[in-house]
Amino acid sequence: MYRRNHVSLIKKAARLLIPALLLAALLSCAEKKPEETVKETVKETLVTETAAAKSSSRETETTEAEPETTEEETLPQSEEELSDVMITLDPNWEFASCSVIHSGEARLQRAKENRKNIIIGVNAGHGTEGGASVYTQCHPDGSPKVTGGTTAAGAVTAMAVSTGMTFYDGTPERDVTLREARILRDLLLAAGYDVLMIRDSEDVQLDNVARTVICSNIADCHIAIHWNGDGLDYDPGCFCSTVPESLRGMYPVSGIWQEDDRLSGALIEGLRSVGAPILDSGLRSLDLTQTSYSTIPSVDVELGNGASDHSDEALRLRAEGLLAGINLFFGQ
Ligand SMILES: [Zn+2]
Repeated sequence: MYRRNHVSLIKKAARLLIPALLLAALLSCAEKKPEETVKETVKETLVTETAAAKSSSRETETTEAEPETTEEETLPQSEEELSDVMITLDPNWEFASCSVIHSGEARLQRAKENRKNIIIGVNAGHGTEGGASVYTQCHPDGSPKVTGGTTAAGAVTAMAVSTGMTFYDGTPERDVTLREARILRDLLLAAGYDVLMIRDSEDVQLDNVARTVICSNIADCHIAIHWNGDGLDYDPGCFCSTVPESLRGMYPVSGIWQEDDRLSGALIEGLRSVGAPILDSGLRSLDLTQTSYSTIPSVDVELGNGASDHSDEALRLRAEGLLAGINLFFGQ
């Protein structure tokens, strides 16, 4: 009898405990604390290669009594040091456990000359097969979304990667965002920036959380490229996201939102400077995965809508505007 009671007690406890454990596991992505050592390792490793090259070259220069002031600009770099590096999502990175699609790779490309040692995360929006049928938390702490969009305000989860809109001529948004990202990449590399291409093919198996976490751990900023599905029959112009007031206290947004907004302002200024059309002030308060999970300056840029001209010339103009904005942001 005692034994039976004991067993039934254990069963009762298990019935209570198992759902609690499952809930804890579900929310675990929100509870994972920053692992600074892990976080810094990748950036350090990437920097170390060049730092090592720099330091050995510096030694040579010192013995030859050359001035040290010009070494940064003139260092020769081997092909190997500058070859592309494929980056996968490290499960130990903060918020990595919130991602559901992460078997893909991003591509880090280094400028061949005049390197600034600044890495720009370029995220061609959409382009993840299966991304619209699985969901991720809108916020790392599980709280509901505060503005509308593809996912309505109040929702706790959003599509891991939505399909994106279709231009009125039938072109899918994902194709145009990729073309734009590649044009921007080429301009950035030529200007001496290193580029983390989150998607450099038709499809990448990285959801919006994974894209954001990879950028946070590798890049110095994250620019997600989109065209808006607003249904208007004319192009209203470009705009960038800013962080909604009610999100400014939420970790990790709390530590970076001013820089998110500064980056948005700089990009709009850059786009305006090349004559790209801008919607009103060019800034819209938006609650998006790429800012909610980001520990680096991160913005969404909407370069038009379904009615927009997406010829090579139109895309190049926007890329030049974005480059001008990036230069402004980094004081280059
Ligand atoms: Zn989009």
